[in-house]
Amino acid sequence: MSLVRPVSERLKGAFVACHSEGHQWRHEGRVVGGSEEGVRPPYGMTDAVARYSTCTSCTSERFRWYTRSGEAINQYRYAEGYLHKKVRPDDEAAPTRQWWRQQLVVTLFEDMRPTVRTRKGRRAS
Ligand SMILES: [Zn+2]
Repeated sequence: MSLVRPVSERLKGAFVACHSEGHQWRHEGRVVGGSEEGVRPPYGMTDAVARYSTCTSCTSERFRWYTRSGEAINQYRYAEGYLHKKVRPDDEAAPTRQWWRQQLVVTLFEDMRPTVRTRKGRRAS
């Protein structure tokens, strides 16, 4: 069972890096709510303007909405496959940040191999 939907190898590497070290945000411009289909400030935030950024690594998007008083709330649109999807009740929980770091670490140390994820309370098969 794979953790994420099939994506390009480059994107898989980017997902590991972003989960481990955070996104690489590049500011793209100013966005006003309603200027584009589905682009609106979080519920309860009125008269807000967003700074729109994209991750140069994994292509995720961030809208950082600001009110005139300086309150700020982030909204994210993650790249397909970035977030772990728990579809059925017995699907595995999302990997921890530590697990993602381990995936990064094995690319740094040449003599290491990826660790196998085992389900809680079940034997690895
Ligand atoms: Zn990213």
